[in-house]
Parts: sequence; structure tokens; C-alpha cells
Amino acid sequence: MTFNDLGLRSQVVKAVTDMGFEQPTPIQEQAIPHLLKSNSDFVGLAQTGTGKTAAFGLPLVHRITSSQRFPKGLIICPTRELCLQITNDLKDYSKYEKSAKTVAVYGGSDIRSQMRSIKDGVAIIVATPGRLCDLIKRKAINLAEVEAVVLDEADEMLNMGFKEDLDFILNETPKEKSTWLFSATMPKDVARIAKTYMTDPLEVSIGNKNEANVNIDHIYFAVKERDRYAALKRLIDFNPKIFGLVFCRTRRETQQVAEKLGKEGYSAEALHGDLSQAQRDRVMNMFRGRSIQLLVATDVAARGIDVDDITHVINYNLPDEVENYTHRSGRTARAGRKGESLVLINTREKYKINQIEKIINQKFTFAEIPTAEVICAVQLESMIEKVKDTKVNEKEIAPFIPHIVEDFADLSKEEVIKKFVSAEFNRFLDYYNKAGDLNAKVSDRPGDDRERGRGKGRDRGRSRGGDENKQRFFVSLGEKDGLNPGGLLRVICDATGLKSDTIGRIDIMPAFSFFDAEKSDADKILKDVKGADFEGKTMNIEKTENKSSKGGRGGGHGNRRGGGGARKSHRGGGGGGRRR
Ligand code: AMP
Repeated sequence: MTFNDLGLRSQVVKAVTDMGFEQPTPIQEQAIPHLLKSNSDFVGLAQTGTGKTAAFGLPLVHRITSSQRFPKGLIICPTRELCLQITNDLKDYSKYEKSAKTVAVYGGSDIRSQMRSIKDGVAIIVATPGRLCDLIKRKAINLAEVEAVVLDEADEMLNMGFKEDLDFILNETPKEKSTWLFSATMPKDVARIAKTYMTDPLEVSIGNKNEANVNIDHIYFAVKERDRYAALKRLIDFNPKIFGLVFCRTRRETQQVAEKLGKEGYSAEALHGDLSQAQRDRVMNMFRGRSIQLLVATDVAARGIDVDDITHVINYNLPDEVENYTHRSGRTARAGRKGESLVLINTREKYKINQIEKIINQKFTFAEIPTAEVICAVQLESMIEKVKDTKVNEKEIAPFIPHIVEDFADLSKEEVIKKFVSAEFNRFLDYYNKAGDLNAKVSDRPGDDRERGRGKGRDRGRSRGGDENKQRFFVSLGEKDGLNPGGLLRVICDATGLKSDTIGRIDIMPAFSFFDAEKSDADKILKDVKGADFEGKTMNIEKTENKSSKGGRGGGHGNRRGGGGARKSHRGGGGGGRRR
């Protein structure tokens, strides 16, 4: 199906084609033909990211064929952010239909200039509930000609306490109008609005009711309360190319976490209601423009954030209202992409995970906070990839080269590499060298959870507990060489004659691997496995400094992207906590 088949006017189709939309999304395909009819009440259960803005925006623009004095379309949404985003989208849809003038009205901004814009004539109003009530009470807006009212993110508006405002607004609009309600979930209050204000609405659900986007992996980690912040840093460090949202529960916590991350060299800023509008705009522009990698936000401030390509949502703390989790996680995996929603819980919060699983109708995966070793390996790999991808400006650098080459004349290629890597990486290694295991047992976790987390074959998981007797080894081959846990186990056991159950945790990284073994076998393993053959490749092994791993599959879903890094720069010390 194409946009031409939906019954939209050619100007509107041309505008969406200019935007690069080739085919309608499922919600658009189902909603648009219905919304083009008059008397078309509608309930759309759809998450952000499904294309719902165009699903209601295109039919609204389609209805406007001449300049309006009073609005024909009214869109009500929970936040200023969303209000501005919808307004921008409508401007794009009405590129070839200039009479579809759209005005945004929202709190925290000069009401008089908004009143002037309305007075000049307007076809579509996009409003937050509080400000719209204000305008109605001041008689600054005439809603008598409204043909369609859109309630966007209705569940959010009710969560935010706009119930009375919505009732007031809906009662102010003409009886003979269409009402289109969009909501990610259908709690009782939203159903009540549908029942009170709509007649026989067409109900369209994208995905099951109350079900979160299947492209999101939901993963939780259990830590002691005091380790929450250190664990957050590890999750960030484990994903060097993260472009993410970190959710906190309060404004204060948001500010504190963002400040701490900033001080430690991470590319992070806070977004919360204590900031002035200008400050919030600045932060949002930085995030949209990718000049920062992490936005630390409260639920309210982050509502309606419509930034594509968010790779991770990190729940530093879960929301008080577990229903809000859906809105948080829905900020990733937009428009068919994949994303991860990571949750940090303390030892008493497992019950919240169970509650959320019921709401989203999806299971969480339990994973362990990555070990220091695994993070260092990931970061090193990412750094190497970045160096390899660095473009050399031959012309500019040419005059310096003879001198540099002379300076390094006494060193072998390997020594030069080691020195460059160490200069960049030593502080990071130092920090993580002192960093212990952050994983905690949770009190009400069902016994099989840990097994579920391990199910992907790498984590033999025996190193938890009796670490004193274990030795950790580094292996020079990894996934890229075709090595897997079984293969590594086979090489070790064949070379040494040891039984496989004496070998503990195995971590296969792309370019190298680690495993744990009994300390008493360490020398034998070192002697016998060094130089062993694995599918034509020579396997080198070394003992690592750390006695053994202490848990740490580290998200365990192998999506390291390499390159980049959430820190502003590796130079000057990567060590989370010890920079500058
Ligand atoms: P929304 O759910 O309205 O926030 O839309 C999510 C994202 O999908 C936005 O970036 C839209 O620009 C994009 N989008 C919406 N409809 C389409 C479409 N038919 N084809 C491609 N992208 C779309």
C-alpha cells in the first residue's frame, strides 16, 4: 500500500514523499482512511515510534483547504516538547497547503504572543492541557469550529494529573466533532474518556494492548544500593557507542547523576523541570545534534522526546509508577530499529520487575554487571577500531613525520603500539584494576533467573563465590577466530588432560577470550595450552592480574559496536571516577 491509496489529497502525499516516507506504517494504514471520513471517532493503541503523529496529522492537514480564522483541528498532548515536535511535523505535512497554519500553545512561554498568533487566524492548534484551559478561560480562543480533537498520549496526560483539564476542554468543544484518542496503554481512566466522549470509535491496536515494542530487549541487573552509580558507569563503559537516555526518579537525582558523569568525563547532560526553558532547549538541541551521548532525565522532562536512534534506555532507578516504564523504554527501538532497556535494581526491588513484566507482557533477561576485565577488553577493542578508522591528513602531518619517526627509531613496532595504547588507556586500566564485583543477590529472585541470564553458553558461572582458588587466563583467540566456549574447553582439556568441570567461567570476546581455572592447575595450563593449535591458529595464553572473574556477562548480548566511547575523550584518563 502507498500513501496515494489512502485517499489523501495530492499536496499531502507530495509532502510526505518529500519527507522520505515511502509506505504508510501499520497505524497509518489503518487509521488514515477512517479519519478522512466525518464523524470518525477513533482509538489508536500505539507506542511512540509507530508513526502515530502522521496517522492523525495527515488527515487533519487534509481537511484544511482554505485559510481559517478559527481552528478546525485541535491536538492536545502532555508536554511542551511533544507539542513542539507535533507542530514541526504538521508544518512538514502542510508544506504544499499553506492555509493549514498550525500554532503551538504550551506553558512556560509568553501567553500573549501565543494569543496574538491565535488571533491572526489558525487552522490547527497543538496544545498542552493547562495552557489551553488558561486560553479558554481568558476567552482567547474560539473552539466553535473544531471538527476533530486529537488526544495524544492520553495515558500520559492522565498520569500527569490533567484529568479535570481534559474534561473541561472536551466540554468546551462542539458536540458534533470527531475525537481521536492515541495512547500507549489503556488504563481505566483512558477507557472512561473513550466511553464518555466517543461514539462507536474504531479501535486499532498496534501490537497487543499494553504490550511493549518487541524490538526492545529488557534486561535487569541487581546491585547493592550503594553501587548503583558505579554500576551505571559500567553499563555505559560496556557500550562505547551508546546514545542513550538515563532515567532518574527525581530532579535532584537527575542533576546529581548528570553532574557526576560530566565531572568524570562522560558526555552527559541533565534534563529536568528545574531548568529554565532556554536551558532545556539547549540540552535537547545538543542531544538531537549528537553533541552529547547521554541525556539524564526525569520522566516528566523526557516525555515526548522524539529522537530516533536511541540505542539504550537506562533505568538508573525505576519509576514510582511502574506503568511509566513503558514510556521510558519506548524511547528506544523507534521506527523498526532495535534497542535495549536496561534496569538497575537493588536487592529489594525484584518484585517491580515482576510487575513490569505483566504490564509489558514481555520477560526481562537477568544479566550481570560486566566485570572490570570485560569492560577493559571492550574499551580497548573500541579504541583500536577507532584508531584504525582514523583518517590521516597526509598533507598536514607530513612535515612532522620524519622527526616523529626518528624519535621512535629505537623502538619496535610492537613497542610503539604498546606505548600509544598505554598512554591512552592506563588510567582506565588503573580504575578498573581496583574495581570489584558489583553484582548483588536479590531477595525474591526466583531460583532459575541466574540460569536464564547464563543461557547463552559463555558463562559457566562457577567463579562466583570461591574466587580465591581460581586463576583467570587471557587467551589470544576470540569469536573472530571461530572460538566458542565449547571449542576453548576442548583445547584446554585436550592439551592438559584436565576434566572440563575444573574449568570455570569462560568469556569469549571478539578478538580474545578469558577463562577461569583452579589455581592449583594454573602452571600446568600455562605450560600445556600455550601454543596449542585451534583450527590452524596458535593459541597463546597468559595469566591475568585479577585472580578470577567475579560474575559479569555484561549485558551479554554481544552488541558492542566499537569505536567512540561515552567519555568525552580517552585522553587524560579513561578511569571512570578518576579523571582530571
Ligand atoms: P511517531 O510515532 O509519530 O513519533 O513517529 C516515529 C518516527 O517514524 C518519526 O521519526 C517519523 O518521522 C517516522 N515515520 C512516521 N511515519 C513514517 C513512514 N510512513 N515512513 C517512514 N518513517 C515514518
